[in-house]
Amino acid sequence: MVKIALDAGHGINTPGKRVMKRFDSKETREWTLNSRVADYVESYLRDYIGYSLLRLDDKTGKIDVPLTTRARNSNNFKADVLISIHHNAGIGGGKGGGIVLYRYPNSTKFTRAMQKRLYNELIKQTRLKGNRANPLAQANFAILRQSRAAAVLIENGFMDSATDVPIILSDTHAKKTARAIVNWLAKEYKLSKRSGTKPKPTPKPTRPSTGGYQGNSIVDYLNSIGVNSSYANRKKLAQQHGIRNYKGTAKQNLNLLNKLRANEKPANKPSKPKPKGDMKTNSIVDYLKSINENSSFENRKKLATKHGIKNYKGTAAQNLQLLKKLRG
Ligand SMILES: [Zn+2]
Repeated sequence: MVKIALDAGHGINTPGKRVMKRFDSKETREWTLNSRVADYVESYLRDYIGYSLLRLDDKTGKIDVPLTTRARNSNNFKADVLISIHHNAGIGGGKGGGIVLYRYPNSTKFTRAMQKRLYNELIKQTRLKGNRANPLAQANFAILRQSRAAAVLIENGFMDSATDVPIILSDTHAKKTARAIVNWLAKEYKLSKRSGTKPKPTPKPTRPSTGGYQGNSIVDYLNSIGVNSSYANRKKLAQQHGIRNYKGTAKQNLNLLNKLRANEKPANKPSKPKPKGDMKTNSIVDYLKSINENSSFENRKKLATKHGIKNYKGTAAQNLQLLKKLRG
């Protein structure tokens, strides 16, 4: 379950933060633009599962929540990732601009890498590349500095640029920006599509299905056999299959996929008896592991008692005796 902190910068009444009057007689406030993007992000995320979300700004716009409060709320929420949405100024009525994406100078290697991936996705969706020399920027912004999450701040085009203003005022640009953020989050944190968003296809077959899926995507595979493919459930399955410290990497996913496929075969041939585990080993621990049974001393003691082995201390003789009893 990835925790997402989403932040629309400022409040509606924050002084100075607005579109230049020359380009917009209404002087649209920066918060209004920021919040519109954040609202679309929330809305698009509803197609996914495997995350929880906290908005750091006041959604009515009335209060400009102090930056320290925003960062503290994000930290209390234990956010994994923080996305702060802003619109830029600094062109002074000239042309050019484009999206600039900030991270804190001392941020982790992961944050640096994901900053780049987010930028690429933003440009792919919005095409608002502009003429900034360094669109992958670093800044000592309070929200980035004080947040413990992997944090990025998007300056989504310039409010005082003849080039950017007509674009950033448009609803289309806000939607494209949000789409980019959500696409990126889904990839970065392996979010699964909510299955309820699509009408259910054919009724379930009576026989347990292999799904017929041959590809290498664990998510597609799980979906094909009607198993919850959320990050949380994949983590659980990974643990069950001895994959430690599951983070949803490509390698772990492939490993899990192979293990699940290997396990599936016996289940699909009901005529054959269940495998009896490792019948060769003389190690009780290895045998218990091979039948997915807890091999701790505690559990072996319990099993020993159940099988009439008194005063179990884990001696070699007792273990061998227990092994024979378990194998029948
Ligand atoms: Zn701002």
